[in-house]
Amino acid sequence: MSHSSIVSTNPNNQFNFSGGPGALPESVLLQVQEAIIRVPEVGLSVLGISHRSDWFTQVIAELETNIRRLLGLSSNYHVLFLQGGATQQFSMVPMSLLHEKSQPAEYLHTGYWSGKVIHEAKRTSHIREIWTGEPNGFSRLPFDDELNFSPYAPYIHYVSNETVEGLQFHRVLGLDDVPRICDMSSDFLSKPCEADRFALIYAHAQKNIGPAGVTVVLIRDELVNYMRTDLPGFLDYHNQIQAHSNFNTPPVFAIYVVLLVTRWLINEIGGVERMAELNTHKARTLYQCLDNSDGFYRGHVIKPDRSMMNVSFNLTSLELEKNFLTEAQSAGFFGLAGHRAIGGIRASIYNAVSLTAVEKLVEFMDDFQLRHQHKSHLK
Ligand code: PMP
Repeated sequence: MSHSSIVSTNPNNQFNFSGGPGALPESVLLQVQEAIIRVPEVGLSVLGISHRSDWFTQVIAELETNIRRLLGLSSNYHVLFLQGGATQQFSMVPMSLLHEKSQPAEYLHTGYWSGKVIHEAKRTSHIREIWTGEPNGFSRLPFDDELNFSPYAPYIHYVSNETVEGLQFHRVLGLDDVPRICDMSSDFLSKPCEADRFALIYAHAQKNIGPAGVTVVLIRDELVNYMRTDLPGFLDYHNQIQAHSNFNTPPVFAIYVVLLVTRWLINEIGGVERMAELNTHKARTLYQCLDNSDGFYRGHVIKPDRSMMNVSFNLTSLELEKNFLTEAQSAGFFGLAGHRAIGGIRASIYNAVSLTAVEKLVEFMDDFQLRHQHKSHLK
């Protein structure tokens, strides 16, 4: 067995740059470890506690309170914990809000994931794609003067952070009178998000706030009045709201881990403003490495639209990229291969990835450049 294959099976948990499921805080993992055997306040394994127990009712209540507190969310929002991932929301949103005679909802096509959202929405409903970044290879987001929102649209939909390309909106889009719906799966609770300006936000847990299995959905009460009630029970937001996220057996374990992460955000980090400062520092450190590399590392997107979560870049040849990934793996860095849709390299630096881990990666990247730049035909 080669040295690199041995290391690859034992990467350092601190150096997990995976696009998702991503790194979780060490202190949370330690509590999870204990809870698998016994949740301290219950005496039972978290894997065997009923979703109808008082304990779980309290878990849901505290988690809801924590999310409201972290985002400063008004009381006129419902907070739901649903299954089916973000993908389920791609369909549930248009199914619930559109019917045969509605005006088309407006969607922005800014990358791989919004492409999936649009594909699903078109299966059930009449929607309009008002902008696409396809001609520029999803290397930038729209400028304001390229967007012409209709005041009659039932809603607009966009993805706040394109996980694959590493594009992130640093502003809120749309008209205030038209409901805004946003997939925040890959930047939820990584920074403040002006949640009150959105009619519906959804975000799966497995990037910044927990394991796969649960998706957080925030819905402004007013929007619920416009939602259809003739859908299958599970897909009907009214039912989910009425049942307090307990319409059928919810993913108790995943929800509990999300609770632990929100406690970590509040008690150990000090809130989402502080989290944003840390995340910005991490992203700046990594982008500086790209910018100082004289074109050896080439960012996938234009600077103003750079993501604070996913840093996607290329080297000057496929061969160099292959070497980079092999050496990175041997050095204990995990999850750096770009998404299968675009290749290249992607370092995802979600909440639980530390500044130290990013600094170590930059050290590795600087060293790799020194050793390989003669092969890059740049110098
Ligand atoms: N939206 C975004 C922004 C994503 O990054 C992903 C997955 N990486 C999805 C949606 C799909 O999520 P899920 O697998 O939970 O359906």
